[in-house]
Amino acid sequence: MTDNAAALGALKRYFGYDSFRPGQSGLVESILAGRDVLGVMPTGAGKSVCYQIPATLLPGVSVVISPLISLMRDQVDALADAGIPAAFINTTQTPDEQGMVLAQATHGDVKLLYVAPERLETERFRDFAARTPISLIAVDEAHCVSQWGQDFRSSYLGIGEFIAALPVRPVVAAFTATATERVRRDIVAMLGLRNPQVTVTGFDRDNLYFDVIKLETKRKAAWVASYIASHPDESGIVYCATRKETEALAASLNQTVLVLRRASGTKIEEQTANPVAVAYHGGMSPEARNQAQRDFVTDRIPVVVATNAFGMGIDKSNVRYVIHHNMPDSIEAYYQEAGRAGRDGESSRCTLLWNESDIVTRRRLLDTDYDNDRMTAEQQEINRINKRRKLEAMIGYCRTTDCLHVYMTRYFGETVPTDPHEKGQSHAVCKGGCTNCNSTFATLDVTDVARAISRCVHDVMYDYDEQGRPTRMPMRQGLGSGKIVAVLRGSRAQDVLARGLDRCPSYGRLAQTPEARVRDVLSQMTTDGLLTICEGRLPIVGFGGRAAETVAPDFHYEIKRIERTTSRSTGRR
Ligand code: ADP
Repeated sequence: MTDNAAALGALKRYFGYDSFRPGQSGLVESILAGRDVLGVMPTGAGKSVCYQIPATLLPGVSVVISPLISLMRDQVDALADAGIPAAFINTTQTPDEQGMVLAQATHGDVKLLYVAPERLETERFRDFAARTPISLIAVDEAHCVSQWGQDFRSSYLGIGEFIAALPVRPVVAAFTATATERVRRDIVAMLGLRNPQVTVTGFDRDNLYFDVIKLETKRKAAWVASYIASHPDESGIVYCATRKETEALAASLNQTVLVLRRASGTKIEEQTANPVAVAYHGGMSPEARNQAQRDFVTDRIPVVVATNAFGMGIDKSNVRYVIHHNMPDSIEAYYQEAGRAGRDGESSRCTLLWNESDIVTRRRLLDTDYDNDRMTAEQQEINRINKRRKLEAMIGYCRTTDCLHVYMTRYFGETVPTDPHEKGQSHAVCKGGCTNCNSTFATLDVTDVARAISRCVHDVMYDYDEQGRPTRMPMRQGLGSGKIVAVLRGSRAQDVLARGLDRCPSYGRLAQTPEARVRDVLSQMTTDGLLTICEGRLPIVGFGGRAAETVAPDFHYEIKRIERTTSRSTGRR
């Protein structure tokens, strides 16, 4: 029997599936042929099958390195149900229990052995590995090995060395859902993959309609309420940035949605019995969280308002919409959360609500977010730069006027054919649809505004005497973006006047321009590298790498605004 036929047979026998999904068969065949692989596939695409099927066909044991102890038991139970002998070793077991599992594996009674990366450092495990034939090492969440990845884990750095020390080198298969070019290169180098077959698949989900809406913070809750009220039979997830917000929004939805439904004449006897929305976050008791999850999964409550704690391991295929009440900090996070819509393949909508203050908040959080005590100062700095880069890409998603499907798949490193993409007409790739492909945009010339902002960033670094002359060399470090806008708009606010900023030559220069426009332009200039936000104790506006362009005689600067969006229902054409 060929490897391919054997693999298909195992897929059918153990999992009951008739065919491989895109990408799976190539990876399975390579592993069976003894070649290392790197599989980059989104969550839910079916990475596990890619190493589980070869593990059933190869002699000896396959070791699966996975960072999440909590998911090991689920995986092992599911494999046992399918008739595949699997086990895990982790800190929840006594040393005796661990010894028993290792003995079984050595005797060939375990085909897949799940361990956390830290385990590889223990002497006991090294002894085991030295005397047990290991055919395959599968590394799940392989991006954790990269300092450029979102979730760097220093314990992953030991994997390459562990493999190199084995008496016989097994096939090594690495999997991840996140891999930009740089992370991919790191995975190959750090794990010591040999001429690996790299497969990147399926980041575009053509049943999802992507929608980006810029909305003031105070209008967001009303937008969400009205969306939910007009989709009464659908189930949805609303992601918020903080625990407090989830509770406040769930409570407000439970009042307003019913009012809106009554106003539109919907009969709601049945709905009055159950709330419309339930909050979910990591600060709730496990019982309350389980209850919320059950209510949502069983359709008793149609909407869950959650932090990013919600989702991992929750299997609900008919989620019709995912609304982000705030901008997440990376495309990876957004894609993973939004991707919980439409798992059943039916048309679903992913809406991101954002505004400039989301950006300010996210930038501020970057500075305070030191989450890994094991990192050296240098690693922390790399981590910070990396997070900033990811945040900029997320901001780019909010601002782009290009096809949102294309933006996202390109970000994940898939090549997308270029398409002239006239505005108001869909990009050929945009099968599920997106706001940008359904919109026409107005272009506004904001060259003068941009110049004035740039000048002001310079001006506020000096002090001025009563005649408006700079008194000395640069005095200040500069100001935050809110202050820059206030100065340009000629604000009479106490802190502006008290600091003598009304004597600065830029004061009041944009008094006639709406405040929101000044903010928008300033923010876009930061994204474009004309300005930069220097993150110290307080975020301060400084000059970016392209700053000199603003004083060039031919400088021209535009912003785009959606002029009209054709309303179109979600889904495939
Ligand atoms: P990932 O690890 O990429 O997040 P999983 O391996 O957990 O994804 O697979 C997601 C779901 O898809 C699982 O329910 C799995 O059984 C199912 N699946 C995987 N491969 C196939 C296939 N070839 N045909 C049908 N369903 C599949």
